[in-house]
Amino acid sequence: VPSSLTAPERLVAVAVPVPGLGLLTYRVPPALGDAPKGARVRVPLGTRVVTGCVVDPDATPPADAILRDVSAVVDHRPFLPASIVDLALWVGEYYMAGPGDALTVAMPPAAREGRASSFRTVARVTLAPVPGASLDDVRGPKQREAVRHLRAHPEGLALPALVRLGVGAATVRSLADRGLVVLAQEVVFRDPFDDEDGRGSGRWALGPAPDSERALTAEQERALAALENLRAGGGFRTALLHGVTGSGKTELYLQLAARASAGGQHVLMLVPEIALTPAAAGIFRRRFGSRVAIQHSGLSTGERHDQWHLIRRGDVDIVVGTRSAVFAPLERVGLIVVDEEHESSYKQEESPRYNGRDVAVMRGRMESALVVLGSATPSLESFANAKAGRYELVRLTRRVADRPLATVRIVDMRQEFAARGPDVTLGTELVAAIDRRLAKREQTLVLLNRRGFATVIFCRQCAASLECPHCSVSLTYHRASRRVRCHYCDYAAAVPTRCGECGGEFLEQSGFGTERLEADVRARFPGARVRRVDRDTIRRRGAIGEVLRGLAAGEVDILVGTQMIAKGHDFPAVTLVGVVSADVGLGLADFRASERTFQLITQVVGRAGRGDVPGEAVVQTLYPDHYSIRAAAAQDYTAFAAREGEFRATMQYPPAVALINVVVKGRTLDAALADAGDLAVRVRDAGPKGRVIGPAPAAMSKIKDEYRAQFFIKGVRRAAMRRALMAAIDARPDLKRRLIVDVDPMSVL
Ligand code: ADP
Ligand code: ZN
Repeated sequence: VPSSLTAPERLVAVAVPVPGLGLLTYRVPPALGDAPKGARVRVPLGTRVVTGCVVDPDATPPADAILRDVSAVVDHRPFLPASIVDLALWVGEYYMAGPGDALTVAMPPAAREGRASSFRTVARVTLAPVPGASLDDVRGPKQREAVRHLRAHPEGLALPALVRLGVGAATVRSLADRGLVVLAQEVVFRDPFDDEDGRGSGRWALGPAPDSERALTAEQERALAALENLRAGGGFRTALLHGVTGSGKTELYLQLAARASAGGQHVLMLVPEIALTPAAAGIFRRRFGSRVAIQHSGLSTGERHDQWHLIRRGDVDIVVGTRSAVFAPLERVGLIVVDEEHESSYKQEESPRYNGRDVAVMRGRMESALVVLGSATPSLESFANAKAGRYELVRLTRRVADRPLATVRIVDMRQEFAARGPDVTLGTELVAAIDRRLAKREQTLVLLNRRGFATVIFCRQCAASLECPHCSVSLTYHRASRRVRCHYCDYAAAVPTRCGECGGEFLEQSGFGTERLEADVRARFPGARVRRVDRDTIRRRGAIGEVLRGLAAGEVDILVGTQMIAKGHDFPAVTLVGVVSADVGLGLADFRASERTFQLITQVVGRAGRGDVPGEAVVQTLYPDHYSIRAAAAQDYTAFAAREGEFRATMQYPPAVALINVVVKGRTLDAALADAGDLAVRVRDAGPKGRVIGPAPAAMSKIKDEYRAQFFIKGVRRAAMRRALMAAIDARPDLKRRLIVDVDPMSVL
């Protein structure tokens, strides 16, 4: 009998960071010690050694496999809580990404390479507790200077702080050598709320906000009671909080969070993009102080590491973060809030293609928590769930302090174009409205959801337009950099002087973006203080915070920008919102085009009149009768949802059906179409699991030199749809690397 059979073998199932690969089983040599569920291990994979995560510490041996040994056990205690491992496994399966990719997003970046956690340490210097007289031993002015500073700080000073005060490290060392000062190592948390000089007014603190609870309006009170009732019930529930813009949803979240944490529960608060809404984290921090941690990809790796470990050690009970924070290692979650639940930034557009909102609901279910999805413009999915009774619907129908919603006027730009040509950015009405605001020293936001100066450059001789050499899209002209750019692959080139097709010399621009709009605004309102927010102007970290602080401080009269200015900002002095080309997104070949347009306009219009002066909005469009524009102008969500719901049902799109978007890439469009066709046939053959639509060239048929064909799988049972697709992919493993599988896609372009 071989000796290996006498002692029971310890086998572990491990998720390794290789896309699409299933769990692998390894042997744990006894000498390596414990490797519990959630621990990281180093394992051989082919010729490499990679860091994986133990998913099952007591795996059964797979049939006919030759098992290899774990090379090292990184953690002997669970690095990830078991509940987070389970959540990640669900994500890997539901979104068809495999367990490795899913567990990778659940870990902070610094942990993924299997390094032991490391905090930054610093030496703290204090005066030694020696009789005062011996301090007379201090020699020379440098040492005396050091002692003077230390006497002023009996709690001691960090070495870098002393150095900043002009005391050299050598001076400190010689004082220490002589026993006059004591140096102690101490862990310093890299706190994203602190700025450089430690005053704590860093990037996340924006504008004045109350630190204590405020008296709720009657409607808020009712909503809080309803939500609190669900939470106190103790089981898994999901509530859709549909509250109009300015109805005070944030105050509700805060008070609900206070109740939950008073009851010993942990709270997870998800927000769309902290970089765009720096206020959210600051508001929680001011209300709850150091009990709040934040998790967000805009933090430095060090800050993220420290915040993550604070959470893991149970030192905080509230986490505010963006989508990946849904995996925050809190262990007693009782409340999960997803603010602006309709936002597309909750969807990760790379593997695992998960939607943080939906993962939040699953986490609530796994941990018996209340999940609150908040929005003024709920996604049709969430609304359908509420109508079907799966989610509790809680409504806030009025703004706080009885402030009215903005009055909206729709301007038909076809008439303006007929009179003034097709390149008019600012219509007559909008100009007049801005003039009135400038006269009253009130602020204006002007939205145009397209960046750059001109959206197309074309040849007057042959009508060819300038396209990206790598993507099927026209290049945008950026005037400040004097370049044309592709917004998909970042290709950039100098503006050509001749047409690439016919050599013609007369190149013209058409279409406009925010850069051109800003120029027009400046030209038309020369005295006004104008700023612009779009991806071109906020590349630098912290740049958007500066602009928003300027707006809050009244240093900006007119803010021009893309959808970035439409997010949950709360600027009381903004009384006018202009929407230039409200229909920019309507032409897109995406089933969510109308929903996006409705949400964007409603949200940006909702920025007006949040203070004492009522707001006004002017919406310029070429489609004044389109239902998404009409409903947004009326700020009538119910009307929009009814109409859009009909469209989705007729066309068989979510939420009427579940949808999987499958994109196959290839060197030529024909090759991509042929492979997609083969895969589609196999899915169809796998049984009546849903309808397969396509393949067809994707709307963006070429991106970064790869051609793309796509097909949809529509049905009602995702599990069966996934199985059919999985079987098809298993029959064509050669396609794995050229495949994008998007379950519940946010966009199908
Ligand atoms: P929403 O997120 O619903 O658009 P906010 O939460 O930003 O709305 O609230 C809008 C404004 O009303 C904010 O300035 C907020 O501080 C204020 N506010 C909220 N609740 C109250 C209240 N009960 N009393 C007074 N002001 C409130
Ligand atoms: Zn390109």
